Amino acid sequence: MSSVRNSKWDKKDLDKVASAEGLSLAKLKRLLDAGRVAIPNNVIRAEHMDGRVLKAIGERMSTKVNVNVGTSKDYVNLEEEAEKARIAVKYGADTIMDLSTGGDINEVRSRILNEVTVPVGTVPIYQAALGRAGERAVVDMSSDDMFNAVRAHAKDGIDFVTIHAGVNLNTLERLKRSTRILDVVSRGGAFHVAWMIHNGHENPFYAEYEYLLEIAKEYELTISLGDGMRPGAILDASDRAKYMENIVLGELVTLAREAGVQAIVEGPGHVPLDEIEAAVKTIKHITDFAPLYLLGPLVTDIAPGYDHFVSAIGGAVAGMYGADFLCMVSPSEHLALPSVEDIKEGTIVTEIAAHVADLVKVGQNEKARKKDADMAQARKKLDWKKQLELAINPEEARRIRDRRPSETDACSICGDLCAIKLVKEFLER
Ligand code: SF4
Repeated sequence: MSSVRNSKWDKKDLDKVASAEGLSLAKLKRLLDAGRVAIPNNVIRAEHMDGRVLKAIGERMSTKVNVNVGTSKDYVNLEEEAEKARIAVKYGADTIMDLSTGGDINEVRSRILNEVTVPVGTVPIYQAALGRAGERAVVDMSSDDMFNAVRAHAKDGIDFVTIHAGVNLNTLERLKRSTRILDVVSRGGAFHVAWMIHNGHENPFYAEYEYLLEIAKEYELTISLGDGMRPGAILDASDRAKYMENIVLGELVTLAREAGVQAIVEGPGHVPLDEIEAAVKTIKHITDFAPLYLLGPLVTDIAPGYDHFVSAIGGAVAGMYGADFLCMVSPSEHLALPSVEDIKEGTIVTEIAAHVADLVKVGQNEKARKKDADMAQARKKLDWKKQLELAINPEEARRIRDRRPSETDACSICGDLCAIKLVKEFLER
């Protein structure tokens, strides 16, 4: 099998990644060469950024969390987007995606790239579509606009890009015949659907995929194959349009691997709990076990304001069945552009889902369970300092503990009647 990335990995870098993941260098290399793990690492950013942090995404790796930031046409605040990126990394985000569509997009991208040392991703089609003025900008963009946007982002040092190459004429036909409630909820997917219908041509990212791979190869850009047909309602999950796109994505993964380009596959979306296992396992098999990046899955549609919890429930279950990379969903999902506080809350809750998945993930479960074992020991000893240190968000745990202190060495829920203390005393007699 050809190596997914032909250029030589820096041994020191790979050693660091292997050690962070708790597996051998040889094993990591095998998984990388097979395309089952990706380490997004644009060659330009790698050369120009000191102290950058590499993240391995895929089989046997700890479940990673991406956080989306970025402006919209309605709200542009460069400082706030930079702050969101910083906060997300502070609370554990492994990667940041800049999804800006408002203001000076080039400036935001450059700022985010300088703000964080973790891998940064974008969706270049957004900028391609916005590159022209006027009402019909999306359908007016040319295929050159699309590829030029990818090249511009790659030149800036972007590590991974979402490309909706699976939204092709064949997938579109399945969509037209479907009975979905919400036809297309992916912004990039919608752009391609509108473009294909208006222009009567195949999606250029699909038709000229080899050219896309040449650009990716030149900059060692990782391709994240977008989930343009992701369901936007739980009743739309697991339909033919979605699976048609998955089949196409599987073929595109093979082509990427043959070209020596790292590929990640994106997945749904809104999916009821009992369909998550089938969704994850099917995508994994169809795409020959490419790293799987999920945008959710959200397991109900009726909880706006709490969609970070809805997504974390789905993310944990999806992780148990093989998802490798979870996209943070914030409390403002489906409602508004998130605030800094929303990003913080969404990141923490998604980190919990990732850890819950790691507790049962082959290759990670021992390391993850050690953390829970340490917490259990600290609880047994009523060691509050340790418990707060081990908390996923120590600040919040401390705030709550200090709000209602106990006069005992237990906590103010039971005080003197602390079950842990009581039983310990009797067991030790
Ligand atoms: S007081 Fe109650 S809640 Fe608090 S540590 Fe003891 S058993 Fe747990």
